[in-house]
Amino acid sequence: MILTGSLHNHSTWCDGKNTPREMIEAAIAAGFTDFGVSGHTYVPQDDFGVRDEEAYVRELRALQKEYAGRIRVWAGLEHDFYFPVEDRARLDYVVGSLHELRDEATGRFYVIDGPKEDLLVCRDECFGGDGLAMAERFFELTAENAGTYRPDILGHFDLIVKNNAANDVFDETSPRYREAALAALRRCASAGCVFEVNTGGMFRGYRAAPYPARFLLEELARLGARVTVSADAHETAALRFGFGEALELLREAGFSSVAVWENGRFVDKRLPMV
Ligand SMILES: [Zn+2]
Ligand SMILES: [Zn+2]
Repeated sequence: MILTGSLHNHSTWCDGKNTPREMIEAAIAAGFTDFGVSGHTYVPQDDFGVRDEEAYVRELRALQKEYAGRIRVWAGLEHDFYFPVEDRARLDYVVGSLHELRDEATGRFYVIDGPKEDLLVCRDECFGGDGLAMAERFFELTAENAGTYRPDILGHFDLIVKNNAANDVFDETSPRYREAALAALRRCASAGCVFEVNTGGMFRGYRAAPYPARFLLEELARLGARVTVSADAHETAALRFGFGEALELLREAGFSSVAVWENGRFVDKRLPMV
């Protein structure tokens, strides 16, 4: 087993179903040596996410001590571009993500990974019905996220496709879509981020494949970028969901190694030969 570390996971501190302790116990049972909890940063208008970062980190540090010798526990946060972490120094890592778009004219936020209706409202109200313009804005901000904050992991690079399985919000095969995604991908790669292959959307039944899409993974492989595998688990049952498939996908896309978090840093491990 090469995927022994996993950093992008949630708990009851935000929208997860299990407590950090339950997640850690399940991670031990699943064979992890390194396990991180990465709650969402606080989003005031939705009263969503980790409201008290200090108390959150305190709890994770206590668990880190308690579980020493059985599993290494890491304290992280998944920041949203619009809602960065308060104090990065007290964390072991940050997952940098983008879950919302803001209408600059009204200041209103639109969640892009909630119900599909909300994504359609965003497209129609902010982008005059032009779904590709919405996707372009999403990727532009994703690149800005990477450049400005240089997160340790760049979260679900093409999350904007979450509610587009039927390809009816915007056309993912359009050159405009692909060019916007690829341009942002290159900017993120040059910022030195580790990208994640995120199986969370698969576990929850939104997508048949992980983020990012195959053509993006192929470009990452060409660029020599580093990629890790994340479950984005919101419950214990999701901890290793789709990991075998993710490794297979990486190999097919041209990768020979995968970055695995081990004892406080990413280590490149060779993908097993078929
Ligand atoms: Zn996320
Ligand atoms: Zn997440």
